[in-house]
Order: sequence, then C-alpha cells, then structure tokens
Amino acid sequence: MDFFFEPDHRSLRERIRAWVEKNILSEGRSEADVEGEARKLAAQLGRDGFTAYVAPESFGGARAKVQARDLCILREELAYGSALADATFAMQALGSYPIALAGNEAQKARYLPPIVRGEVMAAFALTEPQAGSDVSALETRAVKRGEEYALTGIKRFISNAGLAGTYVVFASTDPEKKGKGISAFIVEASRPGLVLKEKTRLISPHPIGAIAFEECVVPQANLLGQEGDGLKIALGTLDTLRCTVGAAAVGLARRALAEALGYSRTRRQFGRELAQFQGIQFKLADMATELEAARLLVYQAAWLHDGGDRRLKQKSSMAKLFATEAAQRIVDQALQIHGGIGVVEGTPVERLYRDVRSLRIYEGTSEIQKLVIARSLLSDATGNRQQ
Ligand SMILES: Cc1cc2nc3c(=O)[nH]c(=O)nc-3n(C[C@H](O)[C@H](O)[C@H](O)COP(=O)(O)OP(=O)(O)OC[C@H]3O[C@@H](n4cnc5c(N)ncnc54)[C@H](O)[C@@H]3O)c2cc1C
Repeated sequence: MDFFFEPDHRSLRERIRAWVEKNILSEGRSEADVEGEARKLAAQLGRDGFTAYVAPESFGGARAKVQARDLCILREELAYGSALADATFAMQALGSYPIALAGNEAQKARYLPPIVRGEVMAAFALTEPQAGSDVSALETRAVKRGEEYALTGIKRFISNAGLAGTYVVFASTDPEKKGKGISAFIVEASRPGLVLKEKTRLISPHPIGAIAFEECVVPQANLLGQEGDGLKIALGTLDTLRCTVGAAAVGLARRALAEALGYSRTRRQFGRELAQFQGIQFKLADMATELEAARLLVYQAAWLHDGGDRRLKQKSSMAKLFATEAAQRIVDQALQIHGGIGVVEGTPVERLYRDVRSLRIYEGTSEIQKLVIARSLLSDATGNRQQ
C-alpha cells in the first residue's frame, strides 16, 4: 500500500487519525441534531486545517493542486469515526471542486477561501426529480436576461440543502442541445428565489433536501466557464471525487472489521470465544481480504488521478463500485458476528449498517459505474490494450 504514498500522505494520515480519536471516538457524537452537528464539524475541520485539502494553495488550500490521495485519506479516516463527519468533509470538496476546476480567478478568490476555512458550507445541485442517473435530462432552466440569468426548477437529494452558503447549480441554458446545453452557476444561499422546499430524512444522519429556484436571478459573473460547459464540469468533478466515495466505504468497512474482531474475541459461546470457531475465522478472513482489495483499488485510482493518468475514469469507477459493494458485505458480516446485539439501536455495527447503504447510490449508482467501465472497455481510446 505504501507504494501509492509520499511521506506527507503518511503524516496527513497520522494527523487525521489523531483528530478522529480526540474529536469523534473519545467524545462520542449525537445523532439528534444532524444539521447542528454538521455545522460544528464543518467549522472544526476548517479550523484544524483539513478542509484546506479541497482547494489549491493560491486560494487558501494546502497544496498547489488538489490531490485525490489526500481526499481519500481524509475520507477513509473520517468515515472510520463518523459517516456524518465524512459527509461533511466530502460536501466541502464536492461543492467547491467545480469552482476550483472551472472558476476564473475572481470566482476562486471570492468563494474558495471561506469554504476552506469552514466558515461557509458548500453544495452541489445536480439531481432533479426527473434527472437522477440520467443527468442530461435535467429540466432546471437558466434564461439569460441582459447581464443576468434567471434560474427556475427543482433539485432534490441535495446534501447541505438549507445549510450551504454556496451552491454550484447545474441548469440548462439551451434545452435543445440536451447535455451540451447545460451550464454551471455559483448561487449564494442569500439570493432571492432560492427556496428550501423540503428536508429529507435518510436512514443514516445526513443533511439533505430539496431546493427550488423560483426566478432566482444571478449575475453573469456567476457563470462557471462558458455556457454549455456544465456537464463537463459536473463529470470532471465526479471523476476526481468518485474514488473518494470508495475511500469512505473503506473507512466504514475497516471500522466494521475492527468491531467484529473485538467482539469475536470477547463474546463466549459453547465455552469458547467466537474467534476460536473456524466458521467465524473464515468470515473475518473474507472481510479482511475484500477490505484489502478495496483499499488497493481506491488508492490506485487516487494515485492515477494525481499523476494525470488518462485511465482514471475507468479505474475510479472500478474503485467506487468494488469498494462500496465490498463494504456493504463486510458490514453485513460484522453485524452477523454480533448476533442480536448487532441490530440493537445505537451499537456501532447497527449504525454502520445504516451508514454504508447510500454509498452505492450517490455520485453514480453501482449500475452506472458498470456502464462507465464497460464503455471504456469497449472504446478504442481506453480499451483492452491498457488492461
Ligand atoms: C446520501 C445521498 C446524497 C446525495 N447527495 C447529492 C448531492 O449533494 N447533489 C446531487 O446533485 N445529488 C445527490 N444525490 C443524488 C444521487 O446522486 C442520485 O440519487 C443518484 O445519482 C441516483 O439517481 P436516482 O436516485 O434518481 O435514481 P435513478 O436514476 O432513478 O435510478 C434508479 C435505479 O435504476 C438504476 N438505473 C438507472 N439507469 C440505469 C441504466 N441505464 N442501466 C441500469 N440501471 C439503471 C439505478 O442504478 C438505480 O438502481 C444524493 C443521494 C444520496 C442517497
């Protein structure tokens, strides 16, 4: 595994591990006030220098360029401690990366530093009631009027809806061109016409909801890139961040394995510890092996990203697909090893069982990752020659 890392990645891992130990594992965090907790986490992660890894150095970030390995290390360790801490960090990355990727100097200087410092929370608004996996079907319109655009439409499943100060919003400026007519806009939460429609409760704590744009007017200065660049910006963002979802899955799975190891060494049945039964040992061995394979795929994809390798898209999809599916199986086995205790509300494995599920859905479902992988296998550009 060390093959993928430089010394500063190792020191980042040590720092975030110590942070998680102090601020999450030993303190314990409540699920009662999800939004309040997410706000606190965003501020803490910004203050303690971890959100700096989502933006380039010239705009308050930690490095000259954003590195996928940093993001993966941070997400793995945060997810080990708390899925909400991971999601809070991930949203600062997802909501700011389109600006880092396609923003002009003035946009980056204005919007990135407050996100890096944890003073402003970020959101990425792509999904709509009729446009989930098929993002090019989005119906939100942005109509140009002089030096401004008026946005109209509904977005759902938007993480940080109602909490974010800065939204990156994808809307069509030319519906006839379908995907090529989509543009990206920075929309401040304070803009009249940006309305929180619903807070959606998920099976695991995560601030999310639906927002509406009701003739929400934004200046032309808030257009990211050129008209029609929106889909490229959205997919470019997801290409970088997809392997980090796999890293979060690795963090949850590592925690599940640790819980299973701990429990199987202490729980006694038939006069022995569970860990002494070969049936349990086989489960532990399978869990550890799948975890190791997932980690390798995730950090390989992150390493390819940081080296600018064109195989990134395919490898990143493989990493997300395998790691999230494997994490689901690992968490399920960890719960099984806990027996009845595993389904008692509030136990770590019960929480992990709820936390792990959405990773197979957001930022491209497992089925969509398979389509991406198959397309790249079948295309001349990135096909079998590179396997
Ligand atoms: C926790 C969480 C956080 C999220 N955060 C955000 C966010 O911040 N911003 C944002 O914009 N969105 C966000 N989303 C939305 C998420 O990206 C979508 O839910 C996801 O892309 C799937 O879209 P959908 O739910 O509409 O499902 P659909 O697209 O309706 O898919 C339903 C099912 O059909 C399958 N399917 C669809 N098309 C195909 C096909 N061609 N071949 C085979 N199977 C197919 C899917 O894989 C899935 O199993 C979030 C979702 C969750 C759960």
